[in-house]
Amino acid sequence: MKNIICCPICNNEHLNPEMDVADHFLTKEVFHLTKCTQCGFLFTNPRPNSKNLSTYYQSDDYLSHSKKKSLTGSIYNFVKEYSLAKKFQLISRYHSRGKLLDIGSATGEFLQYFKKKNWDATGIEPAEAPRQYSIHTYGLNVFPEEKIDQLAADQFDVVTLWHVLEHVPDLNQRMEQISKLLAPEGLLVIALPNYLSWDAQHYGNFWAGYDVPRHLYHFTPATISQLLSKYQFEIFKTEPLKFDAFYVSLLSEKYRTGKSDFLAAFRNGLKSNKWAKQHGENYSSLIYLAKKEK
Ligand SMILES: [Zn+2]
Repeated sequence: MKNIICCPICNNEHLNPEMDVADHFLTKEVFHLTKCTQCGFLFTNPRPNSKNLSTYYQSDDYLSHSKKKSLTGSIYNFVKEYSLAKKFQLISRYHSRGKLLDIGSATGEFLQYFKKKNWDATGIEPAEAPRQYSIHTYGLNVFPEEKIDQLAADQFDVVTLWHVLEHVPDLNQRMEQISKLLAPEGLLVIALPNYLSWDAQHYGNFWAGYDVPRHLYHFTPATISQLLSKYQFEIFKTEPLKFDAFYVSLLSEKYRTGKSDFLAAFRNGLKSNKWAKQHGENYSSLIYLAKKEK
């Protein structure tokens, strides 16, 4: 295990224990979340060493890396298809075509969607199996993580990270790389869970959005904004991922009761989205759109 002694965003060394969360998804091990007393950043601390971290991903259940045949998996895949179209629409508002880099591209469906629309699409995926899948199934350009440093600067019009930044061990190194690769007028798109949402408060430490130890960081709109401004990025728009409230509620319900209660998940998903509308747009998951400050 590795102990983090200062805040990854503001370097403050005064960190307070905030809560304990179990790895409900895989090992049942308990992890601690630490909060920075200065900027309020919440992160998993201590965390497994980078060498051991991959062992926490080794499950057939890890949906973003596998195609599931269960009911949950079917709903997930249906929503995924719908979400691809929505994501494309959102990005097309700012760039009609160009070069896109998706970091953490998993099995490549997002990249493939853009490729079909005549975008020049490149992916980075650290896990071998989904990377090979995306290369062989769709013929995509997807590279392992080490390749990031070899990509030429200022070349991408859009860089996307869909529920990925919370998994990246070296947050500051990754932000530097993104800042280097993105063209001056480029668009940065980051999707993250938000523990200020109603569903997070409702499920407490059973909330699936904590997903320790795979999620090393637990962002809020304020803390992602602080991290981005450190790299001269400014968030100019925030969009909700409304389906995540239902999906995360379904998983959280299962972690809390041992059962997949679709009705309860549906009810709580609705509640969460409704609450967010009235409480500062604190949806279960948010998409942040950012540009370099001028
Ligand atoms: Zn801090």
